[in-house]
Amino acid sequence: MSEATTIYLATGNAHKVEEIAAMLAGTPVRVASAAEVGGMPPVDETGSTFAENARLKAAALVPQLPAGAWALADDSGLVVDILGGAPGILSARYAGPDATDDENNRRLMDELAMVPPARRSARFICCFVLLNAEGREYIFSGECPGRIINTRRGIGGFGYDPLFVPDGHEDTFAELGADVKNRLSHRAKAVQSLLEWLSARG
Ligand code: IMP
Repeated sequence: MSEATTIYLATGNAHKVEEIAAMLAGTPVRVASAAEVGGMPPVDETGSTFAENARLKAAALVPQLPAGAWALADDSGLVVDILGGAPGILSARYAGPDATDDENNRRLMDELAMVPPARRSARFICCFVLLNAEGREYIFSGECPGRIINTRRGIGGFGYDPLFVPDGHEDTFAELGADVKNRLSHRAKAVQSLLEWLSARG
């Protein structure tokens, strides 16, 4: 990617723009928000995988981009083995279409109420899709394995963080804090693989 290349983030979430822009600082690309090109259009997340949903978001923004630019979209969620992969792509809406983190966490605790500790393995997954107007597409994913505990612990983070203990730790993501989480997380790993690809392209 040349110095002139701009990556537009296909999200309406200002927090994500800031977070991803910070992670890509120091690379030879300019990171811009969808707001610079008219805003993120509404997208129905009708895909059946994280990659498909990320692709839908990236594809929705591509028609608004100047020539030569790329759209970058992400999709992420929690996959619990004993629940057959649920909540998966429905992570944000597990307890209903407008569910809060609290409601989603309660549903997860209910679903796992009878499941013993040894069978509570889970992973967070993050998938980025980078797409341009010619249809060139690259996918970068990251996973963070761990387990789900039966009561919430910690006040940091968001989503399912108070119930998720990453492998190799005894504390939840919500207890470990942002510095540790940002080194271990599914999102950090997906960004790392995007960074490696960007640096290999020069
Ligand atoms: P999004 O697609 O990245 O907006 O995330 C979808 C949903 O997955 C969020 O609403 C959370 O419920 C869950 N999720 C994704 N990443 C995390 C995380 O790092 N911690 C806790 N929950 C997460």
